Amino acid sequence: MTKELEAIIQRKDAHLSALTQMSVAMNSKRSTAELMDLVSKQTRDLVGADRVSIMLVDPLSEQLSIVSSTGVDEDVIQTMHLKKGEGIAGKVWAEGKPLLIPDTSKSPDYLKISQKRQPLAASLISVPINDSIDTFGVINVQRPLESGIFEEEELNLLTLIGIQTAGTLLNVRLVSDLQDQIRSIRSAQEIGNVIVSTFDVDTVLRLIVRGIRDVTGADACSIMLLDEEGEYLFIRASEGIPEDIAKTVRIRKGENIAGWVAQEGRPLLISNIEEDDRFECTAKGRYSTNSVLSVPLKAKGRLLGVINVNRLVSTRPFNSNDENLLMIFSNQAAIALENARLYNELQRLAITDGLTGLANHRAFQDQLKVELARASRFFQEVSLLIIDIDHFKSINDSFGHQRGDHVLRCVGQALQRLVRKMDMVARYGGEEFAIIMPQTDKSEAIRIADRIRKSVEKERWVEEDPTRSITLSMGVSEYPKDAHDPAILVELADLALYQSKQNGRNRVTSATPDMLKIKLEKPT
Ligand code: GH3
Ligand code: MG
Ligand code: MG
Repeated sequence: MTKELEAIIQRKDAHLSALTQMSVAMNSKRSTAELMDLVSKQTRDLVGADRVSIMLVDPLSEQLSIVSSTGVDEDVIQTMHLKKGEGIAGKVWAEGKPLLIPDTSKSPDYLKISQKRQPLAASLISVPINDSIDTFGVINVQRPLESGIFEEEELNLLTLIGIQTAGTLLNVRLVSDLQDQIRSIRSAQEIGNVIVSTFDVDTVLRLIVRGIRDVTGADACSIMLLDEEGEYLFIRASEGIPEDIAKTVRIRKGENIAGWVAQEGRPLLISNIEEDDRFECTAKGRYSTNSVLSVPLKAKGRLLGVINVNRLVSTRPFNSNDENLLMIFSNQAAIALENARLYNELQRLAITDGLTGLANHRAFQDQLKVELARASRFFQEVSLLIIDIDHFKSINDSFGHQRGDHVLRCVGQALQRLVRKMDMVARYGGEEFAIIMPQTDKSEAIRIADRIRKSVEKERWVEEDPTRSITLSMGVSEYPKDAHDPAILVELADLALYQSKQNGRNRVTSATPDMLKIKLEKPT
């Protein structure tokens, strides 16, 4: 064997073992950045290069950009973006084949790209990072002419490294996609758990916006809900938006990005808002972000609002994966909102009288306690009115129970109309009502009661008999004058009402302390 041949074999052995070691090291890398750094350093050492740059294809901008390098100037890293076919690396990307340039100062492709810089006389190899289907990027390796012009053998070695890098890159991307998905599912699950355990919709929505931000890596996220008229969207929960701005944002349905999504009821994905002329909108200035994703928030087909995420251009733009994720979160938010609505509705029903829509007996009792406690703190009076319709039985007897129901509803509405907003009108029992009047002393309460009595007496209630009038008997008691205890206050108003009946009905009677004694003589 000649010495030369021996040297070649030794070099090949060295290359092979370097390649094996490199492939083991590559497989331990978990992120694209780590992997690329490893490849650029090891390649430099392996072929004794002074400059190595690894460029990857950005599918969105359809450009090659440097993601890792050694010995390359910072301004080159920042500004070198090549289209397919452009320069040497662009050519390698386009053709998927390696290139060896013995002397760059004689290469028109090289000189065209580096015309603004000092052209270097160097030897260069550019190999694709590819598999049999796709080219993901390019590895460029350069060394000064005096260090020796690259040879075929080094080209072959680097070609293998390119293929090896492609395989590992795919694995890393796959693993990181899987990790993202696992994280998202976990996050969605956690939110699901909270939804079933809490009815506090704000807590749930806050958790959801936080989850969305974590999972999608958004710079800002907001859940917007439509107002009652279905005309404007406002922010109900947000992350990454200053609170004073979040509070004032109002977007009309149909306007801007969120408004468009609310109008159309379907998602909208914008990679770069600067380049999208559909939305010449305030959102550009407001968020100063470039990638925007907005999805509708619907419960049972009804649009409740939208969820928006924004991301600065410095990071990856949103893609359809993000859109799918956001839809999962949107469904969670919809469930939370629907649960909260049902819960509130149940609560409302629990304190509402079904026939008249007024507060029911329980709500009346609760409110009376609240008002007495407040009055005690602020040294104020509270008056209580209990009202019973006179001879109501005969309305039922003459015109039927349904007409009776109707009259009850109308009288309830009339009472509500005749008192102030702060007063509470409740259906106390069958044809009995109660009114709690905060900050009202007895003389004032009697005046109001008499006004109500006269007004109801004047009105016509029964279609079948327009001459038929309805009269009310009432009893009034006052805190703190008559009693401090709510139960006694009610009892006194009730006794005063009994007195009104006794004295001929259609009148208002004020409670007196001796009524409790008289009560003992009242027939049951
Ligand atoms: P007064 O109070 O003047 O002594 O006579 P009244 O006829 O109003 O008194 P009573 O307590 O004898 O009768 C009350 C009637 O109210 C009996 C009941 O049928 C009727 N009533 C109670 N609740 C309802 C209701 O929800 N709908 C209808 N239609 N009638 C009701
Ligand atoms: Mg009665
Ligand atoms: Mg009655």
